[in-house]
Amino acid sequence: MTVRGERTRRHLGGGWALPALDASNRAFFTSGRIALRACVDCEATHHPPQLLCPKCLGTRFSTCYSTGMGTVYSRIVVHHAVHPALADAVPYCVVLVSLDDFPETRIVGNVLDLPPSEVRIGLRVRAVFERIDGGGETLLIPQWTPLVPND
Ligand SMILES: [Zn+2]
Repeated sequence: MTVRGERTRRHLGGGWALPALDASNRAFFTSGRIALRACVDCEATHHPPQLLCPKCLGTRFSTCYSTGMGTVYSRIVVHHAVHPALADAVPYCVVLVSLDDFPETRIVGNVLDLPPSEVRIGLRVRAVFERIDGGGETLLIPQWTPLVPND
């Protein structure tokens, strides 16, 4: 499988923690798409996965997929490494992206291909994926890159 925008280098370095997969997050970290949980009862989407639907407290979920296009809703530049594995990564920008097709569902990630000081609220972005060997399972970690014309 080839994923559009796939990368093999980890933005925050190879020593940073990998997600622990379970049934609720496996699609998000392995599908190569922005996978969201959707409540079967009220159709609300949410991320990260929760045990109860935040709108109706339902407990039955399906998976739906975003196009991976969005807008930076919020941002912060990290200058102090909170873990030794991140010492070489600072400064880096953490963003909250509002998805075009699910605007109330926001996804955390990093913006690649742009200096942290140039990442602005309102920046148009699309999802890209970092391919990582996650101990026998291939992970495709969502990240973001600035949207350019023809994307
Ligand atoms: Zn619900």
